[in-house]
Amino acid sequence: MKIYRTQAALAQGLAESRGSLGFVPTMGALHDGHLSLVRRAQEENDAVAVSIFVNPLQFGAREDLSKYPRTEEADLEKLEGLSVDHVFVGEVGDLYPEGFCTAVVIQGEVTQVLEGERRPGHFDGVCTVVAKLFHLFQPDRAYFGWKDFQQVCVLRRMVQDLGFPVELHACPIEREADGLAMSSRNRFLSGADRGLAARIHEALSQARKSVRHGQADVARLCASVKERLAGDFEVEYVEVRDELDFGRVESLDSHPGRARMLLVAKIGGVRLLDNLLLNPR
Ligand code: AMP
Repeated sequence: MKIYRTQAALAQGLAESRGSLGFVPTMGALHDGHLSLVRRAQEENDAVAVSIFVNPLQFGAREDLSKYPRTEEADLEKLEGLSVDHVFVGEVGDLYPEGFCTAVVIQGEVTQVLEGERRPGHFDGVCTVVAKLFHLFQPDRAYFGWKDFQQVCVLRRMVQDLGFPVELHACPIEREADGLAMSSRNRFLSGADRGLAARIHEALSQARKSVRHGQADVARLCASVKERLAGDFEVEYVEVRDELDFGRVESLDSHPGRARMLLVAKIGGVRLLDNLLLNPR
């Protein structure tokens, strides 16, 4: 496994790489969710590159960049365990040298609502760094998790609009044994809150079960998930969106196999994101 700490070293290392390249961008604090993307990339490519970079551009003024977990040594061990070919550990001064003032801004509803509305500028930061990383790595395929549903939709738009020659793949959400979606934020949950957090996936699964039993009223489904979580959680939003075009789903019948219920629920100050396909084929 080759480790690079500058763009220049990375470019040199990748120039010697042969065959197709799969790329997995991360912010480190790696867990099995990240590793599932790496495994998928390995299945579909000759070589795999992973980036670890806590991107300051995607943190808002009220979000604490310095609190983001940094576990570089353990991350590198995990990647070594999977025999990843190339790992880039990005540094702010190298990726954003003095004078850097470019931003990639995707306009439209996809960046304005839900996470975009609650975290102004977040997707500009994501798109700017991902565009920069795509130029650096020039991958054939790039892998992202459905865990960040809206991010997948935004990046798909960027790739299409700017014509990046990369195939974007969205991968399933990896979960803990009790259903909680794996996330670097889970470590901030207190013991009691960690126990309650499993109820998020339970509520989403219950909604999917209702759909299987014939419930097609989207407003009803969302209201019942909110009800289940109210009390223990502060539910920021529950919505159903089409996973192909991000359109708001009013009727499940018009979005066969593509209607995802998305939610954000806060507990003990920790913001937990999750989503589930309501009508899998
Ligand atoms: P992050 O390091 O949080 O920026 O995440 C890097 C990538 O891993 C993103 O594409 C995430 O969507 C993905 N990811 C995070 N958690 C999970 C999970 N539980 N299952 C699958 N992918 C995930």
